[in-house]
Amino acid sequence: MLSIKNLHASVEDKEILKGINLEVRAGEVHAIMGPNGSGKSTLSSVIAGNENYEVTDGEILLEGEDIGELAPEERAHKGVFLSFQYPVEIPGVSVTNFMKTAINESRKAQGREEMPANEMLKLIREKSELLEIDRKFLSRSLNEGFSGGEKKRNEIFQMAMLEPKIAILDETDSGLDIDALRIVANGVNKLRSEDNAVIVITHYQRLLDYIVPDFVHVLYNGKIVKSGGKELAYELEEKGYDWIKSEN
Ligand code: ADP
Ligand code: MG
Ligand code: MG
Repeated sequence: MLSIKNLHASVEDKEILKGINLEVRAGEVHAIMGPNGSGKSTLSSVIAGNENYEVTDGEILLEGEDIGELAPEERAHKGVFLSFQYPVEIPGVSVTNFMKTAINESRKAQGREEMPANEMLKLIREKSELLEIDRKFLSRSLNEGFSGGEKKRNEIFQMAMLEPKIAILDETDSGLDIDALRIVANGVNKLRSEDNAVIVITHYQRLLDYIVPDFVHVLYNGKIVKSGGKELAYELEEKGYDWIKSEN
């Protein structure tokens, strides 16, 4: 699904990613952990095509296609989803209307017709039922006065609606309460399938109590320095990152 080869990226001439290799197959959930400042958010931004970062070497392949030169919107249309791509508050635009526009914009960019209204309603109904999102929430103004949990609910709803091939959830917010964690975890667990893959970035092991990853990787100083199964997350929780730092 996603294949990252020897990826190097810099910001303002400072190298942040120093040769990342990662293979994510369809159906898999990968967790990326690591101390603050390791490059986790940079990696997700670079995959999504954030133009503040310069890729200096390596490739990013989505289902075998090199997407490294594509604009962020084009990557999104091809099925790359990064949480918090749309953190804006839009007063007067509801959660659902925003989603309708996003879906139709994406279809337009792919030369497709708008989604028929009845099909759109059906999709909204299906996804909101799956995720137990109530109607009241769907008619709220986008991100306006949203709590942490509501922001997460909105992100997961966006992910559900867009049906990405690869979803990257960068859980940077250390203030995430247990409800918000559960919303993210339940959403991911319901949306994961054999046709998609998920990368969860977190420095907290506790999220992985709810989303059980197939693989855990430790990113440190711009490189993946250790990979393992879900037990690696427990080892990190117990031992911290110092042993990783001293080995590297
Ligand atoms: P993590 O998500 O693992 O905490 P980040 O990817 O946010 O790490 O940051 C990795 C390093 O890159 C840090 O030293 C950070 O200061 C630097 N960095 C990231 N983005 C920028 C940017 N836009 N401008 C300058 N430095 C950046
Ligand atoms: Mg950070
Ligand atoms: Mg980060």
